[in-house]
Amino acid sequence: MLRVAVIGGGPSGSCAAEILAKAGIKTWLFERKLDNAKPCGGAIPLCMVEEFDLPESIIDRKVRHMRMISPSNREVDISLDRVYGKSDNEFIGMCRREVMDAFMRNRASDLGATLINGLVTSIHTGDNNQGPYKLSYSDFTNGDKKGELKELTVDLLIGADGANSRVAKAMDAGDYKVAIAFQERIKLPKEEMSYYEDLAEMYVGTDVSPDFYGWVFPKYDHVAVGTGTMQKNQSLIKGLQEGVRNRAKKRLVNGEVIKVEAHPIPEHPRPRRVVGRMALVGDAAGYVTKSSGEGIYFAAKSGRMCAEEIVEASKNGQVIPSEKDLKNYLKKWDKKYGTTYKVLEILQNIFYRNDSAREAFVEMCDDMDVQRLTFDSYLYKKVVSMKPLQQLKITMLTLGSILRGKALAPLKYKPVDSAVRENKEVEKMLENYSIKGGIKVKSSKV
Ligand SMILES: Cc1cc2nc3c(=O)[nH]c(=O)nc-3n(C[C@H](O)[C@H](O)[C@H](O)COP(=O)(O)OP(=O)(O)OC[C@H]3O[C@@H](n4cnc5c(N)ncnc54)[C@H](O)[C@@H]3O)c2cc1C
Repeated sequence: MLRVAVIGGGPSGSCAAEILAKAGIKTWLFERKLDNAKPCGGAIPLCMVEEFDLPESIIDRKVRHMRMISPSNREVDISLDRVYGKSDNEFIGMCRREVMDAFMRNRASDLGATLINGLVTSIHTGDNNQGPYKLSYSDFTNGDKKGELKELTVDLLIGADGANSRVAKAMDAGDYKVAIAFQERIKLPKEEMSYYEDLAEMYVGTDVSPDFYGWVFPKYDHVAVGTGTMQKNQSLIKGLQEGVRNRAKKRLVNGEVIKVEAHPIPEHPRPRRVVGRMALVGDAAGYVTKSSGEGIYFAAKSGRMCAEEIVEASKNGQVIPSEKDLKNYLKKWDKKYGTTYKVLEILQNIFYRNDSAREAFVEMCDDMDVQRLTFDSYLYKKVVSMKPLQQLKITMLTLGSILRGKALAPLKYKPVDSAVRENKEVEKMLENYSIKGGIKVKSSKV
């Protein structure tokens, strides 16, 4: 009987382990920290809820408005109400990763995967990397912080261990470029929080990120405020976070930072994602999209697709699949999502280039066809074909916006107005402080 170890109990690992266990394959799922709260915005597309059978209980908030805010503070509501009409059927789910990850991991375990609370510390890959694979790990099952040293030998490995993947190193998968993301969780007064009830914000501008965007995403009882930038600009990250805080300070007034977190985000797939009988999935493979920085759905989906290939090639665990069999998963993956990644990379290169382009981007988001296209492709992960007239209109709109964008780009960045209080009241509140705690920035004091 085939023996498979899945290293990493995030969405990619749990979804892989679930499929393997369901097929009756002997599966071990390793997670170093069972209450791990992966630093993450936690936004998931609607299709993921159905496709991965996620219960309502793991969704903290159902966002129906994505507000884009340009460098000059032009605000455009990309609204599900506008695109699909008022209903509760469509939404962007906002989740706490500790809740969602625990649910998916426990489900895999209930279906028969052996869940090990352990940190895999070394991997021997066998002759020519072909296995069997000998894992050494610290087992924390008994609550001991140092853990008990143990070993396990398996026929096949799935590396679902995120951006700092140990499996990727063991199989010499090669490096990828990463972006660095920084996030503060901020508890807001009731009035301020009510504005973010079903609304998330994305800020663009050189002040918040030279190559990405800043965000305010609602969570269970607080907001996640963050930004990301490419590794070469890593030294700027705290200043960029200060930029997001500054722009949003009237909406985050009297907030209190409850957590500060940072984590790398892969920018493209690794040079090798399958070596011998080892396969990478999710962030370990490098499956986060450009422009949107979305990775949860793609992690879950890649874990599932990789495991399905293993089930099929092994005839439900009767034979050991070959490297060639595992590479079929890559072929299918690249065929299904290659275009999506390419299109989002092109969009990032065009629209996040400078403030003129960012102004153009936000202006374009006000168009109904652009909103429909954005939501159809994000929420349902389907490639949307456009009618020729629609295509022509969007092309003209892009050109027009890009020309106008130059005139709109600001010389100085200003905070957006509060959405729930008169300006006078907010100014008064800001005399004390804007945000308590978190990174040390001048702007916390006015
Ligand atoms: C700040 C930030 C905001 C983001 N916001 C969003 C968002 O809003 N929406 C979205 O779709 N994506 C977002 N992403 C991307 C998303 O978080 C990732 O794409 C996703 O978590 C990838 O899932 P994964 O299962 O591949 O890896 P991870 O979620 O990183 O899971 C890896 C797991 O492996 C475990 N592990 C690692 N090494 C070992 C080991 N040696 N032994 C045992 N266990 C190990 C870790 O504890 C972890 O639980 C964001 C990322 C960041 C950094």
